[in-house]
Amino acid sequence: MRRAMNFIDGQWVELQGQHLPVFNPATAETLGEVPLSPAAVVDRAAQAAARAFQDWRRTPAVERVQYLFRLKNLLEADFEELARGITLENGKTLEESRGELRRAIENVEVACGIPILMQGYNSEDIARGIDESMIRQPLGVGAAICPFNFPGMIPFWFLPYALACGNTYIVKPSERVPFTMLRIFELFEQAGFPPGVVNLVHGARETVEAVLDHPAVRAVSFVGSTAVARRVYARAAANGKRAQVQGGAKNPLIILPDADMDSTIRIAADSAFGNAGQRCLAASLAITVGEARESFGEAIAQVAAERVVGSGLEQGVEMGPVISAESRARIEGLIQRGEQEGAELVVDGRGAHIPGFEQGWFVRPTVLRGVPPEGEVFQTEIFGPVLGLLHVDTVEEAIALVNRGSYGNMASLFTSSGAAARKFRYEADAGNIGINIGVAAPMAFFPFSGWRDSFFGVLHGQGRDAVEFYTQQKVVVERWPKEWTRKF
Ligand code: NAD
Repeated sequence: MRRAMNFIDGQWVELQGQHLPVFNPATAETLGEVPLSPAAVVDRAAQAAARAFQDWRRTPAVERVQYLFRLKNLLEADFEELARGITLENGKTLEESRGELRRAIENVEVACGIPILMQGYNSEDIARGIDESMIRQPLGVGAAICPFNFPGMIPFWFLPYALACGNTYIVKPSERVPFTMLRIFELFEQAGFPPGVVNLVHGARETVEAVLDHPAVRAVSFVGSTAVARRVYARAAANGKRAQVQGGAKNPLIILPDADMDSTIRIAADSAFGNAGQRCLAASLAITVGEARESFGEAIAQVAAERVVGSGLEQGVEMGPVISAESRARIEGLIQRGEQEGAELVVDGRGAHIPGFEQGWFVRPTVLRGVPPEGEVFQTEIFGPVLGLLHVDTVEEAIALVNRGSYGNMASLFTSSGAAARKFRYEADAGNIGINIGVAAPMAFFPFSGWRDSFFGVLHGQGRDAVEFYTQQKVVVERWPKEWTRKF
């Protein structure tokens, strides 16, 4: 039985205590098990990271990025194996696994620019003979607490920037997909990072709470569901830590009648059903305006019904399983709820039977038409391949519906009108906006935004925001020899 090990202070550590099984969602077979690390183990990791910080922060930025260059090369060399590993434990297709790894590597590449990204600024003679400057210094120990849906990518929204800035780090992967980070930590080891600079600690709630309570941990980056995100944010803040906390989502698309309908349908289907709908930027509501109702509604149902569902490792498969039996039951329950609320079940993905994978946790693409805005299905994050359709007469009504939900991760508009696009971009209450884009995922050199119930904090992951988050500003005011200051 494969056991996920922790990596602490440059050593692989196997725990004896409680473990949870890890499954392949396409077959329901056990892949191995993952330890639930108690507070004492988190303490060891945090103390190792705090010790390592003393020297790591003094290592020049140009030297620190040499480790990241090596890591990037190792990730490239191991790319196909890593992608396979993601598909095995998460279920997504190989193509999707490759996509997420590419985004992970992109963040390492951007963080290699830290010698310039981390620079401060200065002013001479703020008063006669007195100069002032701002320098950015690392905080100390940082930590990332991660969800199951992007096991290879999400830690990289934070970790490369934290390390490049001179912090040391702890990663707590999702207990449902621990093996991807395990492999990536083998690459960290090969890249030669000094002991204690990067640490891997597996576990679930108790482990997370120990991270949030540990005095040596100065900054926490969290990605997960909104209910947990709220608690994590409150606890991190109560303990005086910096926190950037990303929550759940319920992303709407608006389709105007002047959109290029062929591409819109393809893009909307990829957004709603890609990653089996388990993507924080997945479309889960499509609001048609005017004549778009017929052209979009019929075609999206057909595309949903034809999508090839199966094991993510098989050629030609367009959608894999969802993460667990509980997840499948929850999604199927919400589909039923939609019907009870009065929506019409145009394509029903429940009870999926995939030949050769009868034990797997599959839900086929599902389309519900006429989802009532006051109902549960409109408000609730389903996190599965379910698209709810709504219809209104004007773009104003559509934008009002977008802003009615409590989340604000992403909203997209499909149109060929610049005026409508500008109005939407200006008025939509969401942090990531797509115009004729189904998954408006920011590149590594932009912040991964998110508003309202989708994000708690100020500074986001990726790019300049991550550099600000993982540094503290020190302002120095200095006066030098007397001859510069006539007063004396
Ligand atoms: P989750 O909230 O169940 O778990 C996330 C992390 O929190 C895991 O590491 C887990 O071990 C830990 N955790 C779980 N319960 C906890 C508790 N009570 N106290 C402390 N820690 C706890 O989320 P998930 O199911 O793994 O991931 C899916 C969710 O993540 C979805 O809601 C999705 O929208 C969200 N997500 C958001 C973004 C974004 O950018 N906003 C990106 C990816 C995923």
